[in-house]
Amino acid sequence: MNPSRTAKIADVTTAPVIVQTGDELRSHVAAARRAGKSIGLVPTMGAFHQGHVSLVEASCRECDFTVVTIFVNPTQFGPGEDYGSYPRSLDGDLAAMRHLPVDVVFTPSREEMYPADHVTRVELSGVALPLEGAHRPGHFSGVATIVLKLFNLATPDVAFFGQKDYQQTCVVRRMVEDLNVPVEIRVCPIVREADGLALSSRNAYLSESERRQALVLSRSLKLAEELVRDGHKSGPEIVARMKELFAAEPDVAADYVVLVEPDTLADVDSISGPVLAAVAAKVGKARLIDNRLLTPTED
Ligand code: AMP
Repeated sequence: MNPSRTAKIADVTTAPVIVQTGDELRSHVAAARRAGKSIGLVPTMGAFHQGHVSLVEASCRECDFTVVTIFVNPTQFGPGEDYGSYPRSLDGDLAAMRHLPVDVVFTPSREEMYPADHVTRVELSGVALPLEGAHRPGHFSGVATIVLKLFNLATPDVAFFGQKDYQQTCVVRRMVEDLNVPVEIRVCPIVREADGLALSSRNAYLSESERRQALVLSRSLKLAEELVRDGHKSGPEIVARMKELFAAEPDVAADYVVLVEPDTLADVDSISGPVLAAVAAKVGKARLIDNRLLTPTED
């Protein structure tokens, strides 16, 4: 780690500038560029937890100038999903970043990002189609559209995403490659509670009993990891063992439980290299996702 960045994180004295318009964001970024600074971008929907903070920390460590965006993006929510009730807490989010040298926080309005006369969206296929793509039609088109708009406004050198949304990182990498966007994508590890539950803004929806049952997501991934480490090679058999755990939780309805190839997200029949175990489930009002990259031991 660059020692001057560590020092910067340790003695933060100035609060970030908060801007609502793309023009303001552009002019702050332009000034940073003129000063020769590298730009880091952390796109978020707010309701910060330690997972978000870990991305902001990574950007502040690696880049000279960090832009954090907070925007609950309507186009990535389907009809009947939780766009209206999604937690919004700007003061709490700013407090969570107060020890970090964030330069600009971008909190645009819906109209700023999606003027009434807009007609353009990013369309995807391939890696965007299975898993989340199959259960949330249009979701990744909304994600890719907002991420591309944020890339165009902030022109980051590096953008930071969490492995928690593994398929999202595949989609963003693909889009950047396909549309020639000059940005490096960093993927940061999943931050978990001590008992294994992956941090998520949607965990706030869980009752005490639902939260207990939600642990089945991370437990099933741990089981898959153990089975792969112990030399099990059959994808379908491991998935069946994971599904047995889900069947024992009455308030958890799995959307998918899979072992897939980490680049293409195609189902894995026989394990011969790294695989991704991925799960999604509704637990009460919350829809939760989690995943783990698994590496088989050498034969
Ligand atoms: P969101 O606000 O849910 O759109 O998330 C913003 C970013 O934080 C995304 O890149 C997520 O993958 C990342 N993120 C969400 N939860 C976690 C977590 N538990 N650990 C690490 N990163 C996370």
